[in-house]
Amino acid sequence: MAEPVYRRVVIKLSGEYLAGPHSFGIDQPTVDRIADDLIAVQKLGVEVAVVVGGGNMVRGVDVSSQGVSRSTGDTMGMLATVMNCLALEAAIQRKGTPAQALSAFVMPEVCKLFTRAAAHKSLAKGRIVVLGGGTGNPYFTTDTTAVLRAAEIGAQAVLKATNVDGVYSADPKKDPAAKRFDRLTHSQAIEGGYKVMDATAFALARETSLPIIVFSIAEPGSIGAILQGEGRGTIVAG
Ligand code: UDP
Repeated sequence: MAEPVYRRVVIKLSGEYLAGPHSFGIDQPTVDRIADDLIAVQKLGVEVAVVVGGGNMVRGVDVSSQGVSRSTGDTMGMLATVMNCLALEAAIQRKGTPAQALSAFVMPEVCKLFTRAAAHKSLAKGRIVVLGGGTGNPYFTTDTTAVLRAAEIGAQAVLKATNVDGVYSADPKKDPAAKRFDRLTHSQAIEGGYKVMDATAFALARETSLPIIVFSIAEPGSIGAILQGEGRGTIVAG
């Protein structure tokens, strides 16, 4: 078995993915499958922190178009990420692997607050860390959160799990001529305006010299394959 390329990573999981075949909410079989994948990665000897999105429930921009202020809408979105976070933490724990949810917000009855020290401690104890609440600030995304947390906890890479096998010049589901990239620099990713991740996330990754690997999570075991250098994805790096 190939040695993992990285020893500590942040995996970005979109909320949409947690809805499984549905357009809203949490699909438990999907959460269970992801929990299995994460546990398998941890067994490779990789320290894993997961940043969970909230798009399966609330996106700030969507609710703000219906009359709620953008800041309030974004706060609702961040709270949605905490719910996803709890679902994933519970699924991992049910399978007998320790997990720790950490939130960007103080909510002591719900889970612990994210601090770098709390994250380091949990990872050192062999827990899979599940990060909710985004950055804790409106106008950001959980993609940017993933890069921020990776920089804060000294992760060596961000793994952006999506439903496509890398970065494309256009949406490959709509445009058959879309070109797939094996490798891009952070600057090329920003200049290209590729929709897979927002420019703030790429800019922070450039600033902090963090590689981002964009890959498809559709196949069980795909996170482990990427970490063993065997999977298919686009590497965005300096
Ligand atoms: N959000 C935010 N600040 C953050 C992270 C997220 O305001 O630092 C809000 C924002 O409204 C966003 C929602 O939470 O639309 C859900 O996050 P995201 O859209 O990144 O989730 P995903 O698309 O990955 O499921």
